[in-house]
Amino acid sequence: MQCANTPVHKTSVEQKRHAQNVAKKQRLGMPKLRDLLREAKRRTLNEFRLQADLDNILRLELSELEHDLEIEQHIYEELLADVNEWYALQEQNLEELYAENTTDPSQEPVICPVCLKKPLYRIHSLYKCECGVQFEHAADNVQLQQLIQHRINEHEVNCTQALVFFIESQPKSSLFAICGSCDYCCSV
Ligand SMILES: [Zn+2]
Ligand SMILES: [Zn+2]
Repeated sequence: MQCANTPVHKTSVEQKRHAQNVAKKQRLGMPKLRDLLREAKRRTLNEFRLQADLDNILRLELSELEHDLEIEQHIYEELLADVNEWYALQEQNLEELYAENTTDPSQEPVICPVCLKKPLYRIHSLYKCECGVQFEHAADNVQLQQLIQHRINEHEVNCTQALVFFIESQPKSSLFAICGSCDYCCSV
């Protein structure tokens, strides 16, 4: 019985040992699995870190973009303010022009026919300009303007050149018109 049982028992022990060995090997293999898990975890962590870095870079770039946008918004607002200011000025100019045009024509200054830039101002029968020109004339502003225009029209009939106005000081300061091309010359 014993002889017959022994091999069975032996086999059983061997089987046990074998099973134990397998289990041991599996257990020994476990640290490898743990390592793998650890490695996987480390990789995941690294990926998280990479993700975090990417997030930071993106956030930085976004904030820079926002900053750029803010600057652009400021520039846009400044330009808009300039344009608005320009329109306001134009409107103001138009209003002033309209107001000027509706004033009494006798109060409107005559532009100096000599320098063609500054207005003439009148003290009694004396007309003066900032350019240094001064002459005597009995006409008021409106009449003087008409007389000057009359001389221009009169000359234009026969000549295409521009009439030049000048002051003849003798015997008294008087306004004259002359043409350098034709022989037109007369007092205003
Ligand atoms: Zn002048
Ligand atoms: Zn002429």
